[in-house]
Amino acid sequence: MSLIWILDTGLYEQKEIRALVELSANVRDNVYHRLQRTFLGEVNSKTQNVVEVLVRCHIELSNLNNRLVREASLLPRDIYTNPEISNEARGAVVDLKFGFGPMPRDLANKKIFFFDIDNCLYKRSTKIHDLMQVKIHEYFKTHLALTDEEAHQLHMNYYKTYGLALEGLVRNHHVDALEYNAKVDDLLALQSVLSYNQDLRSTLLEIKKNFDYFWLVTNAYKNHGLRVISLLGLGDLFDGLTYCDYSKNPIICKPMKAYFDNFLSLTNIHEPSTLSFVDDSEINCKAAHDLGFGRVYHYVELESEYQKLILSSDFASYYGAGDGTDPTKIIIIRDILELRSAIERVEKA
Ligand SMILES: [Mg+2]
Repeated sequence: MSLIWILDTGLYEQKEIRALVELSANVRDNVYHRLQRTFLGEVNSKTQNVVEVLVRCHIELSNLNNRLVREASLLPRDIYTNPEISNEARGAVVDLKFGFGPMPRDLANKKIFFFDIDNCLYKRSTKIHDLMQVKIHEYFKTHLALTDEEAHQLHMNYYKTYGLALEGLVRNHHVDALEYNAKVDDLLALQSVLSYNQDLRSTLLEIKKNFDYFWLVTNAYKNHGLRVISLLGLGDLFDGLTYCDYSKNPIICKPMKAYFDNFLSLTNIHEPSTLSFVDDSEINCKAAHDLGFGRVYHYVELESEYQKLILSSDFASYYGAGDGTDPTKIIIIRDILELRSAIERVEKA
């Protein structure tokens, strides 16, 4: 009866609202109708009262669901505050409307732009990649007792094979992924290389005018993703985050189909041809393209990487002419700030 009590007293605190949302489908579809059928068969003064309360409950729940669809902001949010910077700074607090998902099931097939984070929302040349490589290299050397050369070779091998060095460590060496995260990602001196980015913020705000939601999809653990977004001052622009859950075994990361299936499910996307996706990883972009994602933007920052890409044997099948005018092919951008013009170009084509 606690649910009815909550409705009856009008205590629509956020905690209760989330409970109601989760319970509402069952209450409406199963419990309520079953109870109503039972009670209506043998109404007396006592059960009449229960039926009336249940009817009110049903009406309140319907109204509540309608309100939630209109005002998704009523949902309790997963809010992250970064102890490294002032919460007063613009975009410093990461306020994800739908947290780590799922989105309310009423919000299906919305127009969503999915963003990778690392080396995508900041430049590879910020050297975070280098800081991370050093930490990962140290980890390979120390935990697997390898020489520098062996550690480098294995690290590169796992990255190319799995898309994530950690995936190789867990699969082949039974490394504790959360311990790895604490010793690699969480110890990166991000604040020394990342800062508020007004240009990126303005670009994303412009792009968001044509999308319902922005959703982050990272191969990092959630701590790192939230920290990066906070330091970039983008915490109020994204509606949700799907991260690589290092506590799970096996680890599911991009470009595995299970990772993509997971975030499509969490965001109620049944028709991937409607969504947009940007990532700096070639294998991730190709996987997204193979899954039929509507628009796939590949951020290729380094000239050497670009030259190698355009000479690859399957370039035309994935990238077409490579000029970003064919919406059925992967669209290359050379700077994340080009994303807006790349979107406009392909939509006009
Ligand atoms: Mg990336």
